[in-house]
Order: sequence, then C-alpha cells, then structure tokens
Amino acid sequence: MNYRRCGRSGILLPEISLGLWHNFGSVDRYENYLPIALEAFDAGITHFDLANNYGPEPGSAETNFGRILREHLGPYRDELIISTKAGYLMWPGPYGEWGSRKYLMASLDQSLHRMGLDYVDIFYSHRPDPDTPLEETMGALTDIHRQGKALYVGISNYDDEQTRRALEILKRNGTPCLIHQAKYSMFVRQPEAGLMDTLEREGVGLIAYSPLAQGMLTDRYLRGIPADSRAAKPTGFLQRGEVTEQRLKQIGELNAIATRRGQTLAEMALAWLLRDARTTSVLVGASSVEQLRANLKALRSPHLTKEELGEIDKILK
Ligand code: NDP
Repeated sequence: MNYRRCGRSGILLPEISLGLWHNFGSVDRYENYLPIALEAFDAGITHFDLANNYGPEPGSAETNFGRILREHLGPYRDELIISTKAGYLMWPGPYGEWGSRKYLMASLDQSLHRMGLDYVDIFYSHRPDPDTPLEETMGALTDIHRQGKALYVGISNYDDEQTRRALEILKRNGTPCLIHQAKYSMFVRQPEAGLMDTLEREGVGLIAYSPLAQGMLTDRYLRGIPADSRAAKPTGFLQRGEVTEQRLKQIGELNAIATRRGQTLAEMALAWLLRDARTTSVLVGASSVEQLRANLKALRSPHLTKEELGEIDKILK
C-alpha cells in the first residue's frame, strides 16, 4: 500500500480505502463480506468508511462492522481509521436527518453503540442542510471533536462555496476540517471546477467516493447488466436507467484504452484519480475479494501519458 498525507494534517491515508455503503448490510452474507474486510486490512487498507444509514437496513453496516471488530480486527484498533457520518434519514420525526446539533449528536452516539467503539477517527456531516445555520452544524462537529468522540471531523457533498464557509467556521472554532468526501470519478468531474483548489489551498484532504461510478467504470457492464450486479439488485443505488447506451459506448472506448495499456478499466479508472496529488485516497466498494484484489492492482499502474489523458477527456466530453 502507498499512503498519502491527508491535507496538512498528521494523518496518512491509504491510496485505496474501503467503503461499506453496499455489500455489508443485513441483506448481505457475513461469509462474503468478512473476507473482503480482512483482505483489505491485510493489504494495508487502514481506512474503513461507514455512515449511520449504510445497509440496508440502515445501521446494519455499522452493526456488522462492529461484529468484524469484535471477532477479528478489534486488537488492531490503533492501526485503523474508522469513519462514520450523519446527514441522511435515520429515524422518524424532525430530528432523524439533516444537520441539527440534536441529530448529529444522537446519531454519533448510536453509531458508536452499533460498532462497539468509544470513538471514531473521522465524523462527517454527510450533506449540507439548507435550513440549519451552518454555524450550528459545524458547532456540533466541533463539540463532538472536543468530547473525544471523533478524533477528526470532515464534510461530504458540500459544494465549493458551502465548503469554504464550513472550513472558515471550523477553523475559527479551533477544529480544522481534516477531509472532504466528494463524488469524483471519470464520469463525475464536478470537484475539478473549484472544490479541489479550495481544499488544496486550505490544507484539507480529498477522498473520492464511487470512484468506479458504482461499477460502471469496470468490466461489469461490458456485456449487459449481470443478475448479481448492483444495477440489477433491488437494494442497489445504481439504477438500471443509468447504464445508458451513451455510457456503454464510453465504457467500451475507455476499456479499449485500458486493454491497450495492459490493465483493466477499473485499474485505469482508479489510476486516473490517483494521478492528481490532490486526491488523498479513492474510496472503493467491493462485492467480492476478487474485485478488491483487482482494484489494488491500480497501485502498480503505469502512469497515464498526456496523450492518453487527452484521449480519455475526448471520450468523456
Ligand atoms: P465504487 O464506485 O467503487 O463501486 C463499487 C461497486 O463496483 C462494487 O460494489 C461492485 O459492484 C463494482 N466493482 C468494484 N470493483 C470492481 C471490479 N474490480 N470489477 C468489477 N466490478 C467492480 O464505489 P461505491 O459506489 O461502492 O462507493 C464506495 C464508498 O464510497 C461507499 O462504500 C461509501 O463508503 C462511500 N460513499 C459515500 C457517499 C457520500 O455521500 N459521502 C455516497 C456513496 C458512497 P457489484 O455490486 O455490481 O459487484
């Protein structure tokens, strides 16, 4: 594993981190996801990313990860960076989602309980709340940090302008933001429009989520939609409708470049993100050990040439 410094902080993150959004819920099998988590740790993936609502059932990914910690990884707690988040719907009534102090504080307590932990390494505001003053949301992160329930704080899905305001408040509060978790892949390039410059200037790390566009930037959909894929599953967040003709054409063309380079599309898609030093880590998901292993090969990827990057840009336009 290679490790990169997360912004201007003391923390190094693995270039590839593992996310538990899918494949670790109550609808999934322990015998399938336990080996993925253990393989990841053995490969030097020190960072596991969760959220209160990951499952389904919401909360079950944290419960299941708690079991993995209890039965296997617990003795290595000090070698792990475990993150969780709050922002999306978790429980009924007005205090079960968004960005109030009431919700964030209660949610983190629930997450710690489910995972059997005293603290997480990173706690995120999962999405900006248009109706709660940003001072309240950031104030809750600051207090959670001061209580020792999270060693660092982060934000996710905040746009450039919202990010600048959030970073300013956190800095003022004396609890600088460690990291921003943003959707970033060959198919989703919004962070390049300003956010990445802001983060670099402010010394905040960037972790790219859904770096394989939920599986579309792999060989998964080259020959249609397989029955066991995320797009085919009723519990998956990738809709069949997103795998369009135009996407399939792009996927085929990108795959041809990858093949020419002697690698898979997944490897190339991850290497493409990691070519930029501003990307601290890519946060992959995996439904099998084989997928995880395949993705780890991106760490040994040959550099993308200027010509190849130009070719890729042309396909994506
Ligand atoms: P990816 O883009 O890496 O997609 C993962 C999926 O792609 C897998 O489940 C699998 O799909 C397929 N796949 C992965 N590797 C391969 C391979 N080598 N060959 C073929 N198929 C492969 O990431 P996710 O969308 O899962 O997101 C990763 C993490 O990011 C999440 O777990 C979560 O931690 C975080 N996240 C954060 C969000 C936020 O709002 N902050 C939102 C979304 C994600 P299949 O199941 O079909 O096999």
